[in-house]
Amino acid sequence: MEKVHDKTFKPYINSSRIIERTKELADKINADYEGREPVFLGILNGSFIFAGELFKHINLNCSITFVKLASYKGTTSTGNIVTAIGLEEILTNKDVIIIEDIVDTGQTMHHFLKTLKEREAASASICTLLRKPDAVQFDLPIDYIGFDIPDKFVVGYGLDYDGYGRNIDGIYQLED
Ligand code: 5GP
Repeated sequence: MEKVHDKTFKPYINSSRIIERTKELADKINADYEGREPVFLGILNGSFIFAGELFKHINLNCSITFVKLASYKGTTSTGNIVTAIGLEEILTNKDVIIIEDIVDTGQTMHHFLKTLKEREAASASICTLLRKPDAVQFDLPIDYIGFDIPDKFVVGYGLDYDGYGRNIDGIYQLED
């Protein structure tokens, strides 16, 4: 059991299983992008451990960069706006692989994909460690999924509860 702030979390996916699955995802990416030079885009803060583990097993000629997403309700008719902080990389005509910790409703990725389109990326695909069932609300190019998990709050392996718990070695699930 792990205690973070006032809540208790129970073991859900251990780190050796995560590493094993991450290697499988990396193998698939290596095969799918053979001969190409994609840009990996890690979404901070949550993806930093998963991104590091995944990237170790990528054998393509490629680069990695990280962005922080700030989301707020826009005043335009398009609704939510997602600003990418620190996205200095030129993405024009680049194949982008987004690395996420978890896709829940999919809203964040849905809006961020618009930003990538504006930056004229050649293509965009998403590699996420975790996906919750609600994610199907949006039609997202989630080509690489570590684990589909139930709609319960999880922490560890980079994911936080109110800033803490990111250093827990493995994914832990909120106790009922
Ligand atoms: P979405 O826009 O897909 O609904 O939200 C995705 C974001 O919500 C993730 O990047 C993450 O920050 C947060 N999130 C969703 N579910 C969980 C969860 O179970 N645990 C943690 N720690 N964060 C979550």
